[in-house]
Amino acid sequence: MNPLRYIPTTCAVFAALLTCADAKLNVVATLPDFGALAREVGGDKIDIVTLAKPTEDPHFVDARPSFVVSLRSADVLIDGGAELEIGWLPPLLQNARNPKIELGKPGRVQASAGVRLMNAPANVSRAAGDVHALGNPHFTTDPIIAKAVAQHIAQAFSAVDTANAGAYDANYKKFEATINSKLQEWGTAMLPFKGQTVAAYHDSWPYFGHRFSLNINVFLEPKPGIPPSPSHLAEVIALIKAQHIKAIIVEPFHDRKIAEKVASSTGAKVVDFTQFPGGLPGTDTYVKLIDKLVSNLAAALK
Ligand SMILES: [Zn+2]
Repeated sequence: MNPLRYIPTTCAVFAALLTCADAKLNVVATLPDFGALAREVGGDKIDIVTLAKPTEDPHFVDARPSFVVSLRSADVLIDGGAELEIGWLPPLLQNARNPKIELGKPGRVQASAGVRLMNAPANVSRAAGDVHALGNPHFTTDPIIAKAVAQHIAQAFSAVDTANAGAYDANYKKFEATINSKLQEWGTAMLPFKGQTVAAYHDSWPYFGHRFSLNINVFLEPKPGIPPSPSHLAEVIALIKAQHIKAIIVEPFHDRKIAEKVASSTGAKVVDFTQFPGGLPGTDTYVKLIDKLVSNLAAALK
């Protein structure tokens, strides 16, 4: 038997008694954007498991048995709190039965707390399969909101793991400074396209559009979560032609062929986008993700 195998277990036992100096905070993030922000703030003080893959549709994630195992041993859970994960997270939480990450506990971070959701319908309606019934849940694509989420995560980590509060605060401040300086660079790159309309497969980009003064409000899906129909696509094609729209945003889990068909009928370009760090090559951190989105979109709109 390898004696090293016993170390994590022993450590876990001591951690329960708050005496193990090397115990890391066990963090679970539902989605890769929250995971990436947690990594910025937590650094080497946390062990993190991100449930959904960056190439999976966050509305329709395949729950794997390992998810329950991770949730059961979590000290902190970060979820969106805006119904993005409503189709798959609630039964997992029920099975995990972990009181530390229940709503209202210090170990539960709902990233949307304090975020004003865009496009909230006057009446909550899930009619005809609309998956944005509470308002748009794809809010971390705005770097200023991402900063607020990171700060919220830092506060939660500090509350649960007071010994490392200084490290979490320092990591957050470093991330904040990076975003502040990058915002200028991103804003300058997007400035020539101010006011332009852009099409997208799914309505994932109102916060990104708002931050960079773009109208990303023409969608291949007739409603969020409803696949494109031929009649809807015919309307979209007419709209793209009439408004001289140059770019159609698709994410890795969308049917790119449909976007290519619309592009070939209109002269618009298909632009690869992802709302999640790791969803495209070279996007493994939040900052690299926004770098990539800005450069891909600028290239298509030129
Ligand atoms: Zn959505």
